[in-house]
Amino acid sequence: MKTIAAVLVAVVVSALLLGAQTPRDTIPTVIRAGRIFDSEAGTFLPAREILVRRGQIVQVAEKVERPAGARVVDLTRYTVLPGLIDAHTHLLYLEALGDGQAMEGIKALVNEGLPLRALHAAARARTFLDAGITTVRDLGNSGRYGDVALRQAIVDGAIDGPRIIASGPGISSVGGQYPGLKPGYEQLATDEYRIVRNPDDAADAVRELVTMGAQVIKIYSNNTPNLGYLTLPEMQAIVAAARLYNVRVAAHATNDAAVYRAALAGVNSIEHGYQVADSTLALMAKNGITLTPTDIDSVSFLQLLKIQGGGAPVSPGQMAGYLAQGRNRLMRAVKAGVVITAGSDNYIDFREPQGYAAKQVLQAYRGAGMTAVQVLQAATINDARLLGREGRLGVIKAGALADLIAVEGDPEQDFTAINRVKFVMKDGTIYVGRP
Ligand SMILES: [Zn+2]
Repeated sequence: MKTIAAVLVAVVVSALLLGAQTPRDTIPTVIRAGRIFDSEAGTFLPAREILVRRGQIVQVAEKVERPAGARVVDLTRYTVLPGLIDAHTHLLYLEALGDGQAMEGIKALVNEGLPLRALHAAARARTFLDAGITTVRDLGNSGRYGDVALRQAIVDGAIDGPRIIASGPGISSVGGQYPGLKPGYEQLATDEYRIVRNPDDAADAVRELVTMGAQVIKIYSNNTPNLGYLTLPEMQAIVAAARLYNVRVAAHATNDAAVYRAALAGVNSIEHGYQVADSTLALMAKNGITLTPTDIDSVSFLQLLKIQGGGAPVSPGQMAGYLAQGRNRLMRAVKAGVVITAGSDNYIDFREPQGYAAKQVLQAYRGAGMTAVQVLQAATINDARLLGREGRLGVIKAGALADLIAVEGDPEQDFTAINRVKFVMKDGTIYVGRP
């Protein structure tokens, strides 16, 4: 029989072992905010208090009630925002820059392997929380459902990470995104993508994905460097099946033809859309299809050059030239009335925590000419709507999940303020700035 001392030792030891995970907070919390971002109205409000109970926001007012035993968190020096959302991540995939970059996808499959990818992803997940990103929509390149497993480990509390909306393998025509798979090796692509060959197969793929735990469907309207496209009837079959199972469809589409056909098929969001005509943007706006511009910002661009050992310094004029096409397309989309949803598609190793590198996409939007409020709405309320979580995520009001962050400074005056994250709460648990 164990002595009480032995039991106590066991409890203490297991608490120490659990130190890697953040314990769930259960007591009511009153947050005193210096100012808050009202994502619905698109304004900043002066000092407010937020009462959090059982992982939810229950009251927002100048003065909220103080339940007995409540913890009070003083954030009066900071700007409080809804937890940020990244609508396009690949937590199980990171490419090293270099000569063999086209082969990085194959390497992830055959050299790295799914268990190691998942373990790496678990470490990356924490960096998203640290950056203030409390929800991600993870869109494939996760092997066979590594993203679903990662989501479950976070839900279980085994590891710290953002809330994950996972797609499982993306639906693609033969070859996926791997260049030049030779006859006999096409099957490699089925470890990373759900390859479909006709509309019936495409509809079946959606059913299979949903059954295996996908909460959103990722498709590749085109899949450069391979020349194959999903056909319009295949994408229409996917959209119809997705509606049946009440999941949304995100379409990778990089050129105008691919964007146009995906938009015709009725997908919910266009990912990338690097080349897109004004007429296609008008179609997207009319049909309520959002654009996730996975663009690079000037700081990340310089970082890439540095990693590549990049030659002469870049002048501001040259930089503007490099970024002009993306910026121009983004502002054409805004002008056309297309809703912008924020997503990083960060899969390049910038040699910094991935969550931080991913958040830089917001600087790209700001640099292109979107206002601070527009950018923050893209990363909060617009993404929440895209995810079908309106009223629950991306907003600070009663009934929403308690995902809150605090940053030092005023993002409207200086948008780098969003990089100075001092406090992060997800589902009512404090991950950064625990008192
Ligand atoms: Zn992507």
